[in-house]
Amino acid sequence: MEHYDAVICGAGIVGVSAAHFLAKAGIRRILLVDERPPLSFTSDRSTECYRNWWPDPAMLALMNRSIDLMEAFANESGNVFRMNRRGYLYVTADESKIAEMKAASDLISSLGAGPIRIHSSETSDYQPSQPEGFLHAPSGADLLLGSDLIRRHFPYLTDKAVAALHARRAGWLSAQQLGMYLLESGRRLGVRFEAGRVTGVAVDGGRVRGVQLSSGVRVESPVFINAAGPFLKEVGKLVGVDLPVYTELHLKAVIKDALGVVGRDAPLLIWNDAQALPWTDDERAALADDPETRWLTGTFPPGAHTRPEGGGTDILMLWEYHTLPMDPVDAPPLDEQYPEIALRGLAAMLPRMKEYFGRIPRPQLDGGFYTKTRENRPLVGPMGVEGAFVAGAVSGYGIMSACAVGELLAAHVTGAALPEYAHAFALSRYDNPEYQKKLEHWGDSGQL
Ligand SMILES: Cc1cc2nc3c(=O)[nH]c(=O)nc-3n(C[C@H](O)[C@H](O)[C@H](O)COP(=O)(O)OP(=O)(O)OC[C@H]3O[C@@H](n4cnc5c(N)ncnc54)[C@H](O)[C@@H]3O)c2cc1C
Repeated sequence: MEHYDAVICGAGIVGVSAAHFLAKAGIRRILLVDERPPLSFTSDRSTECYRNWWPDPAMLALMNRSIDLMEAFANESGNVFRMNRRGYLYVTADESKIAEMKAASDLISSLGAGPIRIHSSETSDYQPSQPEGFLHAPSGADLLLGSDLIRRHFPYLTDKAVAALHARRAGWLSAQQLGMYLLESGRRLGVRFEAGRVTGVAVDGGRVRGVQLSSGVRVESPVFINAAGPFLKEVGKLVGVDLPVYTELHLKAVIKDALGVVGRDAPLLIWNDAQALPWTDDERAALADDPETRWLTGTFPPGAHTRPEGGGTDILMLWEYHTLPMDPVDAPPLDEQYPEIALRGLAAMLPRMKEYFGRIPRPQLDGGFYTKTRENRPLVGPMGVEGAFVAGAVSGYGIMSACAVGELLAAHVTGAALPEYAHAFALSRYDNPEYQKKLEHWGDSGQL
């Protein structure tokens, strides 16, 4: 029988961050268990982007804190995880959306995301982002109005664009390098990693006593942390708790943009308008003829997005045009049409994408699971059995929130003072009938 002060199930970005912050808080014997190599499941599939631009005040506060922590780690490590501050650019060709965009931006700004600057003239003092690094960058957002101004700064965008909102406390980083930094610094403080599957949690007298591993080893520990990512629900059942989460498959395609359609210094580019995919008349007629392909001639939702990746010509392409709730599996089914559809959708924003129609460069396609609660807020805190905690349900924002989630989890475990946003992410929020009522009319979650 081995003895630990805390056992964490799951060495994704959330588990390694929880281990790091627990070790920093003075917990000495921490065991991190994963049946896969660290950071190799969902945390290996992401777009690696971050932003503080969220319409939910609790989420915005969590992200601001997480970005503060990431910036501190970047400073102390010489930015080993290459955090940049290129921002997110939300683009529309719809004049009628400008007022809505302004109102939403004013709201998000008032919640603490930073000031809004509106630019509509030739003499605008809009400050473009630097391609690398994160220091001395503005926060808040810039709203650029008018095609000429937008294309002066982003010449690759369509001349139909009438407004572009540039969220500035945002960008991307290497999630693997951030995770390794958290893991290695945790290891130096005593965190131990063990390969294996958690198959049971011993609960006796209403509290956690230890953990059973697939190797047959039994570990004694008063604290068990469920950071099992898409398997959060399954692992919750090991302590007899049915966590209110579900999983969705999300895909991502990478192609070589040899023609240079996306500027190499571009921010994350997001097309904010619904659209019909561009087909020739013949293609459209043929697709509409067949009940299996007719949906390709219908209306597609806003949200197609892309960004350049690395020093070569790679670009990432993502578009959630239909959401697929499904249980997590190691090798998810990959929709072979996805790269072509995402590329066609992006052509609305980046007209030169048309040059790839019918001859799309060979894509790399992968996918991972968003683990979500109904209102898309995470679960961080006690699980309802003494000594059992949960950290997860971080949906499509697990990389950007991991540092603040790990810190919050550690505060729950050690009994330290909790930040104001803690109650918004605790499992106990669902015990409140008022909150349950609010859930029925929950607005935009802000998730891409
Ligand atoms: C396509 C896509 C794009 C994304 N883009 C972004 C983005 O731009 N920005 C962002 O912030 N986030 C993004 N995300 C979300 C982000 O990747 C996830 O929220 C995050 O990686 C989840 O981390 P995790 O540690 O909770 O889960 P995981 O990384 O899945 O880790 C959970 C670990 O638990 C282990 N485990 C489970 N059960 C057991 C058991 N019984 N015993 C032992 N080990 C167990 C698993 O093996 C796994 O390694 C994206 C996700 C996808 C799929």
